[in-house]
Amino acid sequence: KKKAKEGVPLNLGLQEGVTPGSSLSEKLDFMESNGVYGLEVGGGKLTARVTEIQKGLQNRKVKISAICAGFKGWLISSDENERKKCIDSSKEILVAAGALGSYGMILVPGFNGQQPSLPFVEARAILIDQLKELGEFAVSNKTSIILEPLNRREAWFLRQVADAAAICRDVDSPGVTCMGDFWHMTWEETDDMGAFISGQKYLNHVHIASRKTRNTPGEDEGDNYTTGFKALKMINYQHFVSFECGTKGDKKIVIPAALKLL
Ligand code: MG
Repeated sequence: KKKAKEGVPLNLGLQEGVTPGSSLSEKLDFMESNGVYGLEVGGGKLTARVTEIQKGLQNRKVKISAICAGFKGWLISSDENERKKCIDSSKEILVAAGALGSYGMILVPGFNGQQPSLPFVEARAILIDQLKELGEFAVSNKTSIILEPLNRREAWFLRQVADAAAICRDVDSPGVTCMGDFWHMTWEETDDMGAFISGQKYLNHVHIASRKTRNTPGEDEGDNYTTGFKALKMINYQHFVSFECGTKGDKKIVIPAALKLL
């Protein structure tokens, strides 16, 4: 227990849209003055932003934590064109993610609204084949795919960290990893600790928000992350816990309060 306490850093991060500031530079100033060093940016049109972001991060302590989605199509589509669209657009984002030194890019295999999708048994098999290809491509770009389980209102296909980790195990590529999002976990997991432990070596990223309304951690009554963070210590988690949330109050007040809480 003592060893874990000494060895596991608490690396907090913010999504770009969550961070107050009217420019990238102002956002980075806010982050550094609050001791937050992981910036998560969107994957949409990321290629065109690589130089801007690289320049912005020069002489900064802030690093890119993860790239949030931005891909087109979906991997469990019954339409081969949509699957190919997802592979091609994900590869483009992976190249940018690698250039930015990101741990990975977040990918959702299929949202409920993306139809027609394959029946789940067939979908899982095809997903694994495609992830082998994407995983290899990610490794060659020194980054990874990060599978994100969502809640059932958004994506029935992948809802729990353990299931995402089992897909990673079956793909068996260092370029395919998973994450947990406390907001989705609120609705889908029986236990935060169990969920993160089941993610174990595959866990590459974490999203956090308040638990009832998806605002800043601590803004909802009863917000509690204790067992989840205990599990992150247990599995020696070294990557970022990134805010993906709205805010009820003034960002410049509620975000520092949330950082202090965590
Ligand atoms: Mg999320």
